[in-house]
Amino acid sequence: STDSTTEASPEELPVHDVVIVGSGPAGWTAALYTARANLKPLIFAGELDAGGALMTTTEVENFPGFPEGVMGPDLMGKMQEQAERFGTEVEYEDVTSVDFSDPLKRVSTEDQTVLARTVILANGSAYRKLGLPEEHTLNGKGISWCATCDGFFFREQHVLVIGGGDSAMEEALFLTRFADRVTVVHRREELRASKIMAERALNHEKISFEWNSEVASINGTEKVTGATLRDTITGEEREIEATGVFVAIGHDPRTDILRGHVELDDEGYVVVKHPTTETNVPGVFAAGDVVDHIYRQAITAAGTGCSAALDAERYLADLD
Ligand code: FAD
Repeated sequence: STDSTTEASPEELPVHDVVIVGSGPAGWTAALYTARANLKPLIFAGELDAGGALMTTTEVENFPGFPEGVMGPDLMGKMQEQAERFGTEVEYEDVTSVDFSDPLKRVSTEDQTVLARTVILANGSAYRKLGLPEEHTLNGKGISWCATCDGFFFREQHVLVIGGGDSAMEEALFLTRFADRVTVVHRREELRASKIMAERALNHEKISFEWNSEVASINGTEKVTGATLRDTITGEEREIEATGVFVAIGHDPRTDILRGHVELDDEGYVVVKHPTTETNVPGVFAAGDVVDHIYRQAITAAGTGCSAALDAERYLADLD
């Protein structure tokens, strides 16, 4: 029913066919598809960081269709424009609570509650930060959270990878394709990574290790020039030169508000029935980095956003 947004529910709350939480590539793609299916989606874009993770980056060179590359915020602006062109309604608010216990699901912000026949969760995930002010000031100037995204910019350079788990080893190994030298900085004297990943990194001729070391500061004014490392045992500090710093200490899905309302895995990601985007709650779908530990790319988030829209469309068609 395309006029459902004007229908009053028993409680006089507006009822929407589709409510989308989150406005990264997954959210905007889900909005575009459901808008073009005439379902008039409502998207809660978030209060402060609408547009998602790519708003914090500069050049995106691996989103198909942009042979010259595109600035992250420009790409997100275009996605939004395209979704709005077909009638997506946008609210710049954070969803603060949900209740999926009834077929009409409740989605609330500080200012309002709406009812939804379907909900698409596209909350994304946040890279863990070291907690240094330079992560803000030198962001996009040599500090990165994604080797797949930015490795190419560091050809024939020396880069640091911070972390000791599987994803840090994966980042380090990937970076050896571009960088001359990769130094892994790890707080302990042993890697947390699985044996096979650890061995691959330990045996790689381009990779060396700074053990028992944490990053005291990242140095440089216009661009990263290196870091100050602190020995975790003696407290002694030393400088290391590098033009890139890749922070690989993990990521956290933004699912605090979903806990207890939809099935999450041990790490807090929403569980879906692959290859669909269905969660354990009928009518609730999830897409993008809030589901995905593995690929975490703009194009894969957009791809699953499209799947979620099609899944929601079919679910609604079956109800009618
Ligand atoms: P996100 O983009 O994370 O968007 C989620 C959105 O949901 C956010 O706006 C968030 O605020 C909002 N949200 C969360 N909770 C709520 C709530 N309760 N209420 C309302 N809104 C909420 N990928 C590439 O393919 N190429 C690149 O070059 C590239 N570079 C990157 C550079 C950086 C610095 C970073 C951080 C990431 C980069 N990525 C890149 C990865 C890419 O950005 C992500 O894979 C992609 O954005 C994930 O999309 P998403 O829609 O799942 O989530």
